[in-house]
Amino acid sequence: MKISVVGVGYVGLVAAACLAEGGNNVICVDKDGNKIEGLKKGIIPIYEPGLEELVERNSEAGRLEFTTDIAYGVQNSGVTFIGVGTPSSPDGSADISAVKAVSEAIAKYMTGRHVIVTKSTVPVGTHKVVSDIIKENTNHPFDYVSNPEFLKEGSAVQDFLKPDRVIIGTTKTEIFELMTNIYAPFMRKSSRMIFVDPASAEMAKYAANAMLATRITFMNELSGLCEQFGADIEKVRIGIGSDSRIGKEFLFAGLGYGGSCFPKDVKALAYMGDEQGIEMTIAKSVQAANYRQQDRFAERIIKYCRENGLSQISAWGLAFKAKTDDIRESPAIRSLKKITEAGLKVKAFDPEAMENAARELGEAVEMCEDVYQTLEGSDVMAVLTDWQEFRSPDFDTIREKLSRPVIFDGRNLYSPDFVAGCGIEYHSIGR
Ligand code: NAD
Repeated sequence: MKISVVGVGYVGLVAAACLAEGGNNVICVDKDGNKIEGLKKGIIPIYEPGLEELVERNSEAGRLEFTTDIAYGVQNSGVTFIGVGTPSSPDGSADISAVKAVSEAIAKYMTGRHVIVTKSTVPVGTHKVVSDIIKENTNHPFDYVSNPEFLKEGSAVQDFLKPDRVIIGTTKTEIFELMTNIYAPFMRKSSRMIFVDPASAEMAKYAANAMLATRITFMNELSGLCEQFGADIEKVRIGIGSDSRIGKEFLFAGLGYGGSCFPKDVKALAYMGDEQGIEMTIAKSVQAANYRQQDRFAERIIKYCRENGLSQISAWGLAFKAKTDDIRESPAIRSLKKITEAGLKVKAFDPEAMENAARELGEAVEMCEDVYQTLEGSDVMAVLTDWQEFRSPDFDTIREKLSRPVIFDGRNLYSPDFVAGCGIEYHSIGR
């Protein structure tokens, strides 16, 4: 099939590469000329495991091409996926201006029947807005599909190639069948294609993200209580996660959730409720509690340093989670801003996110070549991202290098008994 994908970020580029891997001819369109020029030379603009090989293989096979020319993309395909960003507006609503602009362009350039598929996360009701825009700008017949994306950064390629489920929001059986064909290469095991109306598809995406954010936040609130009562949130997690009604996923207490999706989608859900006069009390509380959790961690470090006359922090991790270079709404970045604003100094390392973080933090944080360099001249250490390579550090070196051997672990990576046994004071979350 001939497919175009507009917006080649985390979602669009992964979708395009995987669709090409499935045998389709895919044209990637983005307005960012630097990104497209880089991609033509095989330079992948984001860090995502497995993506580089996939892009290289499919580009070489002639199934993947890159352009800034949306007319070319639309005219040479029958199906266009929209994967542009839908960031938060200042009032918390999702800004769908890019989705609207792209829809208008698709309508203008389509040369016959066309299928337009939205992968971007868009507020419920956007299918009507987009359909109206397309109708106003073309006389050709078209079908609109809401196909929300559930991939996770860090495992995006695997998530796309082996999805738990694919939700197809359309009113027509034949369009559901067309989408089933497109996804067929990734549906060889027991994955499910779910056929719903467009509004339910749009809502399902917000419901999923808000539900996951709520689980994390509930555990984070409990972690504060555990600290007061001397309970261990990890043991509580295992205790409740083994209940099949609850399940094991998304119960890890930590610094709070971040990233480009959960914060903005929880906000947008609350905004949709306000617009409709339906108070989204849970979404609003989750959002407030999440920021409180992030700040609680930074405040603990600041208080400790003030009380002990310390000023230099060794920070491990900047990305919002492991296996990504994404720092959008990263709890690590928010914590470090608070810490530096309090007058403390920070030396930081992250395996993938330092370039992005340096742009955001500027001179306030000194970037280092590895975690051990961050320890040089530092008083205490803070773990802010759950990178696998931070899990078994050399605790003797940590103890020797820090002026005050203390670890503040915002990700509960270590065993409290083990760290204490290494002669290091250990503060983690909910234990
Ligand atoms: P991103 O910022 O990484 O990429 C968006 C891309 O769209 C950029 O390359 C940008 O240049 C391009 N773009 C913007 N306006 C354009 C236009 N008018 N024409 C052409 N290109 C344009 O965003 P992302 O993280 O890939 O997210 C995209 C959408 O998918 C969002 O709605 C997001 O909520 C949703 N989503 C993201 C994830 C995730 O993990 N990142 C997961 C599921 C869903």
